[in-house]
Amino acid sequence: MAVDGLGTYDDNNVFAKILRGEIPCKKVYEDDWALSFYDINPQAPVHVLIIPKGRWVSLADFATSASAEQIAGFWRAVGTVAHQLGLEQAGYRCLVNMGENGGQEVAHLHVHLFGGAPLGPMLARRGA
Ligand code: AMP
Repeated sequence: MAVDGLGTYDDNNVFAKILRGEIPCKKVYEDDWALSFYDINPQAPVHVLIIPKGRWVSLADFATSASAEQIAGFWRAVGTVAHQLGLEQAGYRCLVNMGENGGQEVAHLHVHLFGGAPLGPMLARRGA
């Protein structure tokens, strides 16, 4: 049973198509574990996505079913991308949206990496 309320993995999701090369992306980095590319709708001067090379719906799914090697390889790739983009000195933010309350739109695990300017508070203030 799915751990995350998102259902089973859909091979037709947009990131699955990018991984198969059926949809183009502006690639930043690729290794055995991960693919990174620029977000199509950037929310910061630098906004890239890092996705694992596997059929994981969400972080909950990944944490539950990926191997230690797959988890290590993926998170190392996140750090490598930040390093390659030169974001480490000034700093950056990683974000994973998970499930409905997290606002996850694409049901293939992805890490957002933001940088290039001060990013402000961690969450927008709720209306009074
Ligand atoms: P989330 O809300 O965390 O699921 O984020 C999904 C992200 O995927 C959004 O920031 C979108 O702008 C981005 N996105 C959707 N389609 C594409 C695409 N074809 N190439 C690059 N980024 C995309």
